[in-house]
Amino acid sequence: RIPWEIVLPDETATEDLGRFLAEILRPGDLVALSGGLGGGKTTLARAIIREIVGDPDLEVPSPTFTLVQPYEGRSGQAVVHADLYRLRGPDELVELGFDEMTERAIALVEWPDRLPPRHGPTLAIDLSLKPEFGDDARLARLIGGGGLGGRLMRARAL
Ligand code: ADP
Ligand code: MG
Repeated sequence: RIPWEIVLPDETATEDLGRFLAEILRPGDLVALSGGLGGGKTTLARAIIREIVGDPDLEVPSPTFTLVQPYEGRSGQAVVHADLYRLRGPDELVELGFDEMTERAIALVEWPDRLPPRHGPTLAIDLSLKPEFGDDARLARLIGGGGLGGRLMRARAL
């Protein structure tokens, strides 16, 4: 698998990437969002959610304390936004109903290293955001898994 690296010079570029990804994500896909605090994981997830819901002003708070937050897209497509930084263990995922919630959903997961191995939907995109030169630039590194690798490549070629 060949990683795709893209420099995001500012927040708008990150939001553009989110809107692009929203177009190619399908039910059952999981996007693992990694990188440190303030990297832009929530910003990217918010742009994906707003695009799928079809509301550019939708409030999408960080699910820091709720851990998982479901949304319903305009075509009935479910999206689940998770931030597992404060997850106490795999049992808490069961309590939250994470598996049921994500079964037919697009799952956007911050701190995916907290997920137990082979948990939940299949990994579709492994996406990391790292600081670059300057305050606002980020380096995004994407690796598409399974069918999404191909979808990502075809969409990039358009
Ligand atoms: P995380 O969820 O990774 O902790 P957030 O998305 O909550 O990060 O916060 C990212 C912060 O960095 C926001 O305050 C945002 O305005 C700022 N920012 C600056 N440049 C960028 C960029 N290129 N992409 C995303 N966020 C950026
Ligand atoms: Mg966050």
